[in-house]
Amino acid sequence: MSGLRIEGLTARVGGKEILRGIDLEVPFGECHALMGPNGSGKSTLCHVLTGKEGYEVGGSVRIDGVDLLEKDVDDRARLGLMQAFQYPVEIPGLTLRELLEEALEEATMETPEAELTDVAATLDMERFLDRSVNDDLSGGEKKRSELYQMQVLRPRVAVLDEIDSGLDIDAVRQVAEGVEDLRGPERALLLITHYNRIFRYLTPDRVHVIMGGVIIASGGPELADDLEAGGYRKLGERLGIPEPEVEPSRIPKASEQLTDTPFDL
Ligand code: ADP
Ligand code: MG
Repeated sequence: MSGLRIEGLTARVGGKEILRGIDLEVPFGECHALMGPNGSGKSTLCHVLTGKEGYEVGGSVRIDGVDLLEKDVDDRARLGLMQAFQYPVEIPGLTLRELLEEALEEATMETPEAELTDVAATLDMERFLDRSVNDDLSGGEKKRSELYQMQVLRPRVAVLDEIDSGLDIDAVRQVAEGVEDLRGPERALLLITHYNRIFRYLTPDRVHVIMGGVIIASGGPELADDLEAGGYRKLGERLGIPEPEVEPSRIPKASEQLTDTPFDL
């Protein structure tokens, strides 16, 4: 398979085991959703993928067969991995245009100035191009800015952490459209979300549910509907996984628990 392949990924921080053996594959051309309650390890997975320091990491992560875990943050970006942040940071003194021009140069991509503006127009971002990155932007505008950066930089693997959190419904729709525009045969998208309301506007190819640092269920888009009906707690109960958190060692892994899907909820 070509795309993102995560196998047996573990992560510890401060003596605490947060990821406990994540197996996940996102082929190029597909958009997968990763859903899970607060504290289940979603952002940790993003950080470990992009190479943030401070984690003790095990297992393997490959893009098109190339192992990422041995590489530093910049090399991972060069391999085509890019993350949209749950909490995009403000960068006073650096405009969005400057940020993108630097990133394009770093990636040796030749993107005409006109394209920067054209893509900005599709996300209603033109007026932010010559302002400091994320300075005084609303939640929705920050998320659009992240999507805009991805549309310009065209990562092969895009990981979007809580791209729809804290947004009103119009902003969610706009963000969903931005995600749709990112889809492409050469790109793997991993969309991390807490709620399934973004799925009113886009349909993921697969949905994975993470709880307690492991993927407890994987399925088609209907899995998100099942969650809507019963919530994480119900799903956990059905699978024999108590909530709130139990001793991590007592939570069975997906591979021990169930066949791929669809499963009977
Ligand atoms: P999510 O994004 O799914 O809400 P996180 O990945 O942010 O969850 O966090 C998963 C768990 O790991 C939480 O219980 C959180 O408190 C814990 N955690 C995250 N970062 C650290 C850290 N640096 N030190 C200790 N515990 C952490
Ligand atoms: Mg998070």
